[in-house]
Amino acid sequence: DAQINIDLRHARDVAITGNTLWSGVQHDIRVVDSSHIVLGANVLDRNPQYRENGILERLVEPERVVMFQVPWVDDEGQVHVNRGYRVQMNSAIGPYKGGLRFHPSVNLSILKFLAFEQVFKNALTTLAMGGGKGGSDFDPKGKSDNEVMRFCQSFMMELFRHIGPNTDVPAGDIGVGAREIGYLFGMYRKLANEFTGILTGKSLGWGGSLIRPEATGYGCVYFAAEMLNTRNQTLQGKVCLVSGSGNVAQFTVEKLIELGAKVVTLSDSSGYVYDEEGMNEDKLAFVKRLKNIRRGRIKEYVDKYSQAVYTEADSSLEYNPLWNHKANAAFPCATQNEINGKDAQNLVKNGVTLVAEGSNMPSTPEAIHLFLDKKILYAPGKASNAGGVAVSGLEMAQNSMRLSWPREEVDARLKIIMKSIHKSCLDAAAEYGVPGNYMVGANIAGFLKVVNAMIDQGLV
Ligand code: NDP
Repeated sequence: DAQINIDLRHARDVAITGNTLWSGVQHDIRVVDSSHIVLGANVLDRNPQYRENGILERLVEPERVVMFQVPWVDDEGQVHVNRGYRVQMNSAIGPYKGGLRFHPSVNLSILKFLAFEQVFKNALTTLAMGGGKGGSDFDPKGKSDNEVMRFCQSFMMELFRHIGPNTDVPAGDIGVGAREIGYLFGMYRKLANEFTGILTGKSLGWGGSLIRPEATGYGCVYFAAEMLNTRNQTLQGKVCLVSGSGNVAQFTVEKLIELGAKVVTLSDSSGYVYDEEGMNEDKLAFVKRLKNIRRGRIKEYVDKYSQAVYTEADSSLEYNPLWNHKANAAFPCATQNEINGKDAQNLVKNGVTLVAEGSNMPSTPEAIHLFLDKKILYAPGKASNAGGVAVSGLEMAQNSMRLSWPREEVDARLKIIMKSIHKSCLDAAAEYGVPGNYMVGANIAGFLKVVNAMIDQGLV
């Protein structure tokens, strides 16, 4: 078996297919279907020091996990209690860095796989950032601004003692946007009695970086353009399926439109819209207002643009119809496990030859397998969505210098970083005998940087 597949799906087991089965009962990174890392077997054979130093066992165990209660009062005076978490996964190459997610599905298991992925993603960015992830099972949907503020304040009342500009610097993720970052930062500033860059994704007027809101989506499209370039193609005229309608989806669409692609879908957890004419700047501006200001549902798109068709989400189907339209490229930008094996078959059948992940682990292992088998240009999220955390790293650098760089400078740095991640993936894949395999390349390149730092620093 040519591959070492650290498969984190099975409860309490971390299985290495190959010549060892490694069962780590204490490692309960688990449950989420697509949570796995694949390395070429010869990574460990070429580097015996990794086994000797127990690197795999150490990598899958978070350095620290903080779990806490978050009590808050709603507008009617009712008390609620949610669970808060911060998983501090690995700090061998820099302070823990990774988003906070507020969504009812959040649990420790999901945050562990996200934190695990984040470690390698951050290593790929070329910047000095370790990996972490956190959040709560709180659902901001349908809550008033005051309720969200009280929740964020209560969340920070505990989290503030575990983070710091040189320790752990959280950012946004699903359900945590500019509004939530503002409330979280305000409470930190009050509690710590200091103004430091302990969160990224801040607003421009108080320490934020230009291009941070755009960075994940733009970066994902830059990465896709790099991949197409290896086949002498561009995004011009390509029909693209995009899922989600939040931060990542909006700026993926913005950059795709700018580069001449035709985006025909957007979604939220209730359903998706298909606009055969394609989206333009006006339609996107409508979606931004709808989602970021009015906080409405994507189905309102068809009230405004009547040629578009809305389809309600149907959990009894074994596939998502969003991925079943004629297209050239797919950009999943909503959440994990949103493309299963059947969806992948539909994508391939409909002519898709490029899949660039904006969200984290949207493709299940069955889907990835098919993409690789069919020689689809497939970019794993840890490479293609790393632009967000990369610009977060640039925000930290600007905060340390108390300077702000102009838009063009940050965008230029983002492009350079995405190009460099693309190259690192291809170089590692070629070096380890799987040329063109971005998934294995991203895993190996991220893995080597982190584990070499761990070995240099001894058993701590
Ligand atoms: P947002 O909260 O801004 O948007 C999330 C979008 O996905 C919404 O449209 C939401 O719909 C939809 N969605 C969320 N959960 C589900 C679900 N279970 N089923 C169907 N749709 C769902 O989040 P972001 O855009 O920031 O994040 C999207 C993805 O990108 C996540 O996987 C995140 O981890 C990843 N990512 C984000 C980065 C960033 O910089 N923000 C950086 C790197 C990765 P609804 O409103 O109905 O819930």
